[in-house]
Amino acid sequence: MTQKKLVEDTVTLHRFIALYCEQKHDGQLKSAKVLHVSFENAIPYELSYHLCEACENTLLYSYERLQNCPHVEKPSCRKCPNPCYEKSMWKKIAGIMMYSGMRLGLTKIRKLFSK
Ligand SMILES: [Zn+2]
Repeated sequence: MTQKKLVEDTVTLHRFIALYCEQKHDGQLKSAKVLHVSFENAIPYELSYHLCEACENTLLYSYERLQNCPHVEKPSCRKCPNPCYEKSMWKKIAGIMMYSGMRLGLTKIRKLFSK
């Protein structure tokens, strides 16, 4: 893991969780918080988010896993030979990724056709 990769992955992860939370947990949004994304002693990247408590936990859980990822060249978690997520958490995150991935994909496609 490197600082650059950790920031990239955390930002992507957050984008997916934020979209999911916004659409599924409307009304549970709390005030913005900041996550200091930093690997070892690198200068932290400040990621601000507002998520409901459950989604915040999901984000922080995954962030911690990313931070502790033992791979220098991190493979896609889906292809990882020793996945570090607990099964229940993995299922939850896979669900969020699928939900938001589809919507993000659709938005992109809509944009392509709206011109
Ligand atoms: Zn939520």
